[in-house]
Amino acid sequence: MDSAIITAPTNMSMPLRVANLQGRVAVVTGSTSGIGLGIARALAGAGADVMLNGFGDPHQIDELRGGIAAEFGVRVGFVGADLSRAAGVKALIERTTHELGPVDILVNNAGIQHVAPIDVFPMEKWDQIIALNLTAAFVAPRAVLGGMKTRGWGRIINIASAHGLVASPFKSAYVAAKHGVVGLTKVTALETAEFGVTCNAVCPGYVWTPLVEKQIADQAAAHGIDRERVIQDVLLKNQPTKKFASVEEMGALVALLCGAGAQSITGTNLPVDGGWTAH
Ligand code: NAD
Repeated sequence: MDSAIITAPTNMSMPLRVANLQGRVAVVTGSTSGIGLGIARALAGAGADVMLNGFGDPHQIDELRGGIAAEFGVRVGFVGADLSRAAGVKALIERTTHELGPVDILVNNAGIQHVAPIDVFPMEKWDQIIALNLTAAFVAPRAVLGGMKTRGWGRIINIASAHGLVASPFKSAYVAAKHGVVGLTKVTALETAEFGVTCNAVCPGYVWTPLVEKQIADQAAAHGIDRERVIQDVLLKNQPTKKFASVEEMGALVALLCGAGAQSITGTNLPVDGGWTAH
C-alpha cells in the first residue's frame, strides 16, 4: 500500500482560492485539527476573518492562530468552548461577534466518533456524540440566523458524512447523528432560502485525520483484525478511489459553497467520498 496515504498530513499545502470572502466573518467549529483546520485555512485564504474553536495544547493553538493570520493577512481568533454544551456554543458565537463582528459563515464541523456494537455501546458515548455532532449544529444556527436574515446574506455549512447517507456497523450514534444533520440541513435551507442564506451539508467519505486514526484500534478490536486490514478492508473498502480524501479538498469545497457562484445551491448534501455512495 502507498505509505503516503497512511500518514496523517502535518504540512498543509496552500488552499485553492475559489471565492472572495474579504470582509466576511467565519466561525469554524472544531478547527484546531483535521478537516476543520483545512476549512479554516481555506476560508482565511479566501479573505475571511476566522474564529477557530476546539481543543488542544494552548501554545500550539496560539501558534496556529498567529500563523494563519500572518499567512493570509486576516484576523484569526480562538475560543476553546466545549460545544457539547449549549452554553459553550452560545459563548463561541457571542465572543466571535464581539471580537470579529457578526457571523456571516458558520461551519458546523466539530465531531467525535465511537465504534462499538449497539448492545455494548456506552450510553455516555451516545449522549456525547448526539450532543456535539447533532445538537450543536442546531444550537449554533439559532444564534446566528437572525442576524444573517436581517443582513440578507449567510452561509451555513454542516460537515456531515457519507455516514449521513448510508450506514456502517458499530457506529450507531455517529450514523444517527449524521443522518440527523442531513435532515437538519434541508430544514435550515428551506427556512432561510428567501433571505439570501444558504445551508448545505458536505458528506465526506474517509479523510485522513486524527479522528480516523483514533478509530483504527477500535475497529481492529470490533472486527478482530489488524491495522492494515482495517485500512484496506474496512475504511477504504467502499471508497472506490481507494484513497483518503484530503482536508484541503474539504476546505476548497466549503469556500466554493461560500462564493457567489453557489448562491443558488442550498439544501444539498454533497458526497465527497470517492464514489462510495454511488454503490
Ligand atoms: P478531528 O478529530 O481531527 O477534529 C475534530 C475537531 O473537533 C478538533 O478540533 C477537536 O478539538 C474538536 N472538538 C472535539 N470535541 C469538541 C467539543 N466538545 N467542542 C468543541 N470542539 C471539539 O476530526 P476530523 O476527522 O477532522 O472530523 C471533523 C468533522 O468531519 C467531524 O464532524 C467528523 O464527523 C466529520 N467527518 C470526518 C471524516 C473523516 O474521515 N475524517 C469523514 C466524514 C465526516
